[in-house]
Amino acid sequence: MVGATGFEPATSWSQTKCSSQAELRSDCEGRYYPITSVPRNDYFKRYFKPPATKSLCNGAFSGRMRDMPFSKFGLSHPVLEGVKAMGYVEPTPIQLRAIPLIMAGQDVIGSAQTGTGKTAAFALPILSQLGSHTAAPRVLVLEPTRELAAQVETAIRDFARFTDLRVAVIYGGVGYGRQHEALRSGVDVLVATPGRLLDHLQQGTCRLDHVRYLVLDEADRMLDMGFMPDVRRIVERCPRDRHTSLFSATIPPEIESLIQWAMKNPHTVEIGARRTPAETVKHVIYPVAEDQKADLLRELLERVQYNSVIVFCRTKNRADRIGNLLRKNNHAVAILHSNRTQREREQSLRGFRDGRFEVLVATDIAARGLDILKVSHVINFDVPQHPEDYVHRIGRTGRAEASGDAFTLMVAEDIQHVQAIERFIGQKIERTKLENFNYKYTALFEEGKPGQPAPHERKMRGVRLSGGYYFGPARRRKR
Ligand code: AMP
Repeated sequence: MVGATGFEPATSWSQTKCSSQAELRSDCEGRYYPITSVPRNDYFKRYFKPPATKSLCNGAFSGRMRDMPFSKFGLSHPVLEGVKAMGYVEPTPIQLRAIPLIMAGQDVIGSAQTGTGKTAAFALPILSQLGSHTAAPRVLVLEPTRELAAQVETAIRDFARFTDLRVAVIYGGVGYGRQHEALRSGVDVLVATPGRLLDHLQQGTCRLDHVRYLVLDEADRMLDMGFMPDVRRIVERCPRDRHTSLFSATIPPEIESLIQWAMKNPHTVEIGARRTPAETVKHVIYPVAEDQKADLLRELLERVQYNSVIVFCRTKNRADRIGNLLRKNNHAVAILHSNRTQREREQSLRGFRDGRFEVLVATDIAARGLDILKVSHVINFDVPQHPEDYVHRIGRTGRAEASGDAFTLMVAEDIQHVQAIERFIGQKIERTKLENFNYKYTALFEEGKPGQPAPHERKMRGVRLSGGYYFGPARRRKR
């Protein structure tokens, strides 16, 4: 019986001694095991194989485990088991560099392209150093959006599946009941968005005075979203004697000052050119007249062979409008933006992930870090206003070495933003036209022709955009 022998499987959860399914995990063959963390994502279904012998789970190292490249980091045995069950074989570059530093107790500033495995880079060494379950949160991971918080929590649960550590997620837009319950029953790792966490701190339902590891993930996005004051208030509630990791694609001055204030002699880990989109993504620009944008999008979706596509819009209204337009054209469309309820957001993401929707129309809320596999195409219906968002958006495709295409629709007023993106990524993006599309003339078609100054040679004024970013040449921010 489960519980008596540790990892003997049962064929149904009701045969076990556990009082609820939440205390169990089941493997791909429908057998149940008691555990506090229930893996819920695709990797579990694909990669999880129950441990071959009990001794593996009890901490003994098999020869195969010892040969695993991850074993050289000194990670704990149960965490290594979790890595193995995830199907990871080789550490990614950011993991190779960040894991030893965090294992050695260094504060780390990490920057890498999206989809490079940064969650494991901080989660594996931290989980390895936690030991057994205790009642108070010892790890706090702050995330800018609910979706990212949920995704990171799932990943950490997966890594921790062979430990007795408990992981919980806290974000707004949903009731407090389950969050209170989780906090009351004791969690080791808390993944949270700043606003809801502050509510819990104010209500006294959560305390941070045992936090030993603080992770500020997607710090520049938290800055963009206006969370910096909240982040600082939360950091003040954590003990000074702690390890802090910060992940950010860019280090604008506000993040620099947060680093000075919140971190101790941090070590920076920068992987590759952080401005460069993944090499497996082919990206092109479609110049078009403003009033033909929707037609061009419709036509692209007609002609392109895609599995699943994310269409990015600048505003929530536009996302709704474009989503509804595509629905009228018989596309299965999910819409994701921050005016939708949490339930709707979850349904959209779930439906898109499991293939019920072929198109996800989203604002930039979906651009950062969301791990959605098999996105074959990204279409920027609107050019992003922040150059780094371009890299994040098109990073939704071409993940994990898969190839993908990214199309950006450009109208005349986007030209400065496109130039800023090209400066940011250090390359000119190819302009293209959709064959046999009934284009109206726009001066954009003259771009690059003889007699027209190349975009990079045009005189650019520095522009200040919302969110505190400058990308005029004179004011390029410090990195
Ligand atoms: P992240 O950048 O943390 O969002 O991770 C992006 C994707 O890469 C996720 O699907 C991870 O499960 C996957 N991943 C992370 N590290 C590895 C690894 N060492 N080997 C294979 N896949 C990985």
